[in-house]
Amino acid sequence: MSTVPAYAVPTAKAPLERTTIERRPVGEHDILIEIKYAGICHSDIHQAREGWGEAIFPMVPGHEIAGVIVETGPAVTRYAVGDRVGVGCFVDSCRECEYCKQGLEQYCVNGPVMTYNGIDNNGEPTYGGYSTHLVVDENYAVRIPAELSLDVAAPLLCAGITTYSPLKHWQAGPGKQVAVVGLGGLGHMAVRFAHALGAEVTVLSQSLRKKDDGLRLGADHYYATSDEKTFEELAGRFDLIVSTVSAPLDLDAYLSLLRTDGTLVNVGAPEEPVSLNLFSLLTQRRTVAGSMIGGIPETQEMLDFCAAHGLGAEIEVIRADQINEAYERVLASDVRYRFVIDTSTI
Ligand code: NAP
Ligand code: ZN
Repeated sequence: MSTVPAYAVPTAKAPLERTTIERRPVGEHDILIEIKYAGICHSDIHQAREGWGEAIFPMVPGHEIAGVIVETGPAVTRYAVGDRVGVGCFVDSCRECEYCKQGLEQYCVNGPVMTYNGIDNNGEPTYGGYSTHLVVDENYAVRIPAELSLDVAAPLLCAGITTYSPLKHWQAGPGKQVAVVGLGGLGHMAVRFAHALGAEVTVLSQSLRKKDDGLRLGADHYYATSDEKTFEELAGRFDLIVSTVSAPLDLDAYLSLLRTDGTLVNVGAPEEPVSLNLFSLLTQRRTVAGSMIGGIPETQEMLDFCAAHGLGAEIEVIRADQINEAYERVLASDVRYRFVIDTSTI
C-alpha cells in the first residue's frame, strides 16, 4: 500500500478538496503509473453530485488519465518502466464473458470495474485520476503514441473513445451526413473524428457562440438549435446524429432531422429519463441508439488513429485548486473544449 495525494468529493454535491488515498501494492500483473494529466469529464460532475443515483464517497473522480509507468509487477509483459500510457473509464472486467472476449469490456455482463465510484475485485472502492499515482492491471492500460503529448491525449481516454466508437460502428465516412449535437468535450472530438473519417459534418449547438471554433475543428456547417428555422431547414438531412448533450433532449425534434434508416445515437448521459413518440421512428424506419465508451482494443485503435491524423483534444490546462471552478464552467457550457488537470499541482 502507498499513500498518495488526491482531490476528492467528500460527500455528494460538496466541493472537491485535497486529501490522501491508499493505492494497492503493485501486483504480479500491475503497473504503477505516475499520472501527469487528468481530464475533467461531465460524467465526473454527474457522479460527484449523485445525479445518476447513489454513489460512493469520498469520491476521487477522473477517468481520462495519462501518465508514465514508474514500476511494473514481475509478470508484466506488455509495458516497461518509462512507457507512456493511458487509463480510461474502467480498470478491470470479468475477462470471461462473450463481450470481454471480443474486446468489448465496457459491455462486460458482470459489469466492468469502473475507474472510480466502483468496487474492485478486493471489495475496495476505486479512486480515479485526480491523483498523482494509479496502480492498474497492464491489460487495462493503453499505449499513448509518441506523436501525442500527454495533456492533449488525456481526454481521448473518455471523450475520444466515446465519440470514435459510435462513429465507426455506424460507419461515418465519405458520402455520409453526420450531425453532432453539443460542442463540448465529447462534441469537439466527435467533430474532429467525423471530419477525419470523411463525413460531411454539421454541428447543432444551442447558439452560434462557438461557430468559428466548430468550423475550425472540421465542421462543414453550424446551426443554432435555439433558432426554430434550423429544424425546418435540416428536416430529413442526416444519416447519423451523435448527441453529446448532458441534459434531456427533445428526441422527436432531433429524429425529424434523420433520413429514412438514419440513426440518432446518444452518448450524452442525462440524469432524467427521456420519452419519444414512436411515430418519429416508424414513419422513416429510424433508430434511436446509445453507446458507451469503447473497449481496450478500440481505445488503442483510436489513439493510433489520432497519432496518424494529428488529432488530439483542445484543452485548457488547470491547477488542482481550480477544479471546483472548472466544474461550474462545464455546467455553464463554458468549456473550450476540455479542462485537464496538471496533476503535479495536487
Ligand atoms: P460537456 O463538455 O459539458 O458538453 C456537453 C455539451 O452539451 C455542452 O457543451 C453544450 O454544447 C451541450 N448542452 C449542455 N446542456 C445543454 C442543454 N440543456 N440543452 C442542449 N445542449 C446542452 O460534457 P461532456 O464531457 O462532453 O459530456 C457530455 C455528456 O456525455 C455527459 O452527460 C456525460 O456524462 C456523457 N458521457 C457519456 C459517455 C458514454 O460512454 N456514453 C462518456 C463520457 C461522457 P453547446 O454549448 O454547443 O450547445
Ligand atoms: Zn468521461
